[in-house]
Amino acid sequence: MPLVMVIEDEEALALLLKYNLEKEGYEVAIESHGNRAIAEIEQRLPQVIILDWMLPELSGIEILKLIRSKPDIKNIPVIMLTAKGQEEDKVRGLSAGADDYVTKPFSVPELMARIKTNLRRSPEILPVKELVFEDIRMDLVEKKVFRGENYVHLGPTEFRLLKLLMESPAKVFSREYLLKTVWGDNIYVESRTVDVHIRRLRKALNEFGPDYIRTVRATGYAIDTHALGEED
Ligand code: CA
Repeated sequence: MPLVMVIEDEEALALLLKYNLEKEGYEVAIESHGNRAIAEIEQRLPQVIILDWMLPELSGIEILKLIRSKPDIKNIPVIMLTAKGQEEDKVRGLSAGADDYVTKPFSVPELMARIKTNLRRSPEILPVKELVFEDIRMDLVEKKVFRGENYVHLGPTEFRLLKLLMESPAKVFSREYLLKTVWGDNIYVESRTVDVHIRRLRKALNEFGPDYIRTVRATGYAIDTHALGEED
């Protein structure tokens, strides 16, 4: 049974979709919050994602950008839902990588037809098993990191930080973005916490090779070979 992930915070609508999708023989997962949704997508690899635009925490467009930035899930078709007549949203959604677009209120048969079309486009989802940057290798199945032949012991937060950096080498991530995506909706974490965990990550990695974590002053961090020779 193909799995459809519905990311929608209006419970009545989510349940209506679930009911109709299950009637058509799909398996359905519902999520209402962005960070949990991303974790769930990475875990379950749905064949199609139905994504609402207006959501608490992360917006639909932010979630879409996150999906498209992650090698293991970026090819999953995404159908965006939005309020009627938001032509501007439609353009933004499509340029951010949405595969299809349905405006609310929509007819259930129409949405079902769109899902079928997008399922045909859905590639065989082959999970990415590892990420590599220079001599750093992250085994995503075993959740282990190696530098050359050496095992690098990382805590879960350092692991998630490194994963995000390795998914987009040379891209600079702001502290705020890292907080939001690595720590999720825990509002009690302050941005200095990012620095503490980056320091730990550096320490663990640099035991076996050069420093590839780049500090971008007043901005954030990246993984980059240009980091060499920089001071923290
Ligand atoms: Ca909503």
